[in-house]
Amino acid sequence: MLKGKTALVTGSTSGIGLGIAKVLAGDGANVVLNGFGDHQAIEAMRTDIAQSAGVEVRYSPADMSKPEEIAAMMVEAEEEFGGVDILVNNAGIQHVAPVHEFPPEKWDAIIAINLSSSFHTVRAALPTMIGKGWGRIISIASAHALVASPYKSAYVTAKHGLAGFTKVVAMEVATAGITVNAIAPGYVWTPLVEKQIPDTMKARGLTEEEVKRDVLLAAQPTKEFVTIEQLAALALFLTTDAASAITGAVLPVDGGWTAQ
Ligand code: NAD
Repeated sequence: MLKGKTALVTGSTSGIGLGIAKVLAGDGANVVLNGFGDHQAIEAMRTDIAQSAGVEVRYSPADMSKPEEIAAMMVEAEEEFGGVDILVNNAGIQHVAPVHEFPPEKWDAIIAINLSSSFHTVRAALPTMIGKGWGRIISIASAHALVASPYKSAYVTAKHGLAGFTKVVAMEVATAGITVNAIAPGYVWTPLVEKQIPDTMKARGLTEEEVKRDVLLAAQPTKEFVTIEQLAALALFLTTDAASAITGAVLPVDGGWTAQ
């Protein structure tokens, strides 16, 4: 049970992050939600999670591409809850284009949000975790932390970097009661995947069905999308004492994709 603990999940107004935030709240953790979206819809999510789980839920609109906003979010969590016990680095974006046509501003945004934001959250969260002698850091990487696909240069670079960062931090805090891991999902049906279908259709000259079958699920031997619930269940397991020997790991949940 996570009663009395606080989880901060970046990018938790949608998709995988929202699913993880709900499951951690369901196990008793207070939660800090973060991400973009319609204010009323986010407020409805916040109150719904708080009421159904009986925990405190706050929301930070901090932009994960802006280190100063990340720092302010972490200070607020410290003041509100006495620190973050479970940090889930999940916010991420995608852009699909050949490298010679890749817009430099998209490259910079993907590196900032999908990689550097984790450095900024981790550096702010660690001192309190070390002081308490307990912490869990879970980063949502990707199968693209382990293998590449064409037209995703910034994303693959950022996710490989996140895997490396995970291993380094795990080693630095291994004796402090803190585990640091990455989850590497294959394709999960979320708005992030839905949004990249038109660009992939354009980049490869394919129909929507062909993109799903021949590009997305072509990589996954199970031929099924991974579910948000499966990822949230693993994230919850990583918070338990039973998982305290798992650290520095990049754990694939990818229907066999990276086994090939
Ligand atoms: P999503 O688009 O449903 O959710 C992304 C979340 O990040 C949203 O809450 C959004 O508001 C937030 N976000 C985006 N930019 C932000 C910013 N600058 N600052 C703060 N929040 C921001 O996407 P998802 O599929 O749930 O992806 C979540 C994570 O999982 C990402 O890191 C993604 O790379 C990773 N992932 C997804 C898949 C997949 O197939 N969907 C596969 C592997 C890894």
